[in-house]
Amino acid sequence: MEAGTGKPTTTMMCTLLAMDHTGFCYKVCSVCERTLPDNPDSRCKLCNFNASNSASSASKRLFRILMSVASDTKVFTVICFDRVAKVLFGCSADEFFDFAKIHPFAAATASKILEGEMFKITLSKPKNGNAQHLRVVQVFPLRTGFQPAIETLKEFYGVKSGS
Ligand SMILES: [Zn+2]
Repeated sequence: MEAGTGKPTTTMMCTLLAMDHTGFCYKVCSVCERTLPDNPDSRCKLCNFNASNSASSASKRLFRILMSVASDTKVFTVICFDRVAKVLFGCSADEFFDFAKIHPFAAATASKILEGEMFKITLSKPKNGNAQHLRVVQVFPLRTGFQPAIETLKEFYGVKSGS
């Protein structure tokens, strides 16, 4: 799923206007990364069929975030997947999900923290017909002193790093 295999990409400066923090991650099989339904006992049928040890962690979460961004000429919606979202959040989707369980407003606060930040983003056009949004394949924060949302959140909620 890496970009850079001859797919057309565009790089531009933009400002993050808003983030859809209501569904920032999705559940996948921890082995084959197929998408799983978001209920507590959803398991990958393919992998569990072969796994004798069903106690091993069956699922994990990955980021998938819709964001509204503004370039110098237009406002548009893009989608960020796990690798890019980690740059913005500074942790894995699982870590963030656990953090958000203890701090229910963490996702909303994270989007507030990131709103207004300037980024240099590389976008790729979706090739398949069912993907309706441009996809962010690379993101570089432009502000000196930018810190990922989780760092600001930990300061905000008084959580010490590394504990
Ligand atoms: Zn699987």
